[in-house]
Amino acid sequence: MYSESAGDEIRIEGLEVYAYHGVYPEEREKGQRFQVNAVLYGDTRRAGLEDELALSVDYGQVCLYIDKWMKENPCKLLEAVAEKLSEAILLKYDLISALDLEIRKPNAPIPLPFGCVSVRVRRGWHRAYLGIGSNLGDRESYVNGAMQALRTHDRIRLTRVSELLETAPYGGVEQDDFLNGALEIETLLSPEELLDALHEIENEAGRKRTLRWGPRTLDLDILFYDRLVYESDRLVIPHPDLENRTFVLRPLSTLAPGYRHPVLEKSVKHLLQELEAREGAQQHR
Ligand code: AMP
Repeated sequence: MYSESAGDEIRIEGLEVYAYHGVYPEEREKGQRFQVNAVLYGDTRRAGLEDELALSVDYGQVCLYIDKWMKENPCKLLEAVAEKLSEAILLKYDLISALDLEIRKPNAPIPLPFGCVSVRVRRGWHRAYLGIGSNLGDRESYVNGAMQALRTHDRIRLTRVSELLETAPYGGVEQDDFLNGALEIETLLSPEELLDALHEIENEAGRKRTLRWGPRTLDLDILFYDRLVYESDRLVIPHPDLENRTFVLRPLSTLAPGYRHPVLEKSVKHLLQELEAREGAQQHR
């Protein structure tokens, strides 16, 4: 993911595209010249070692795709061209993990002498780890349904799934055992957008928010998102208290034992060992 290691670069500079983007009717009818600069991030090592185009991104094809997309999708704003085109490229080319995309409009309708106007964005796939749990009704089918919803989401790839563990409830509320697991995903969504997507999946599973730590048909949590440390009024990343939850750390350690918690600066495996040692010590008291 680009925030961890940007990787290798394939650069496209000064691609000329005639298209119909703009706020004014004249721009939409007559069209004008645009220039595109792109930096495509990905791993070119295998293609380089084997000297094989099929293992890389064919920049000629990417240029033709940009030209076709820009002609077929007129937008009012350069921001919209940059946003939507970068997403279309990331969805079409698996080998591109992130890209910088600059859309330049050298003949923009500005009644003064000027060089050029442009918008540049960086977009990419983010890696996140999710916790998943259910302890009400047909638990396995809620968990499987959630995984299916993640698999079919346009902007999410479900890349790995841990085994599901049967665990005793947390927080002191009398209720049935949980089925818990961890998931690895790649996503184009921001953390807040990802939380919205998870809430939608929870709501489809008919989850009712009643008791804190009470029974739920489906619970989806964002555990980690890249190496991000983030806090808003509705979202905290890394997930608070995960270092005290065996039912989170155990499945997570099968997917990402070496992932370092960006605040505690300890690996998932290390956090699990420490927690098990604390729990073992408590049992012997
Ligand atoms: P819970 O009932 O434990 O699933 O808590 C749900 C609420 O916790 C959600 O409405 C979120 O706004 C909030 N929350 C805070 N941080 C996170 C996170 N990392 N992942 C999921 N929910 C979170």
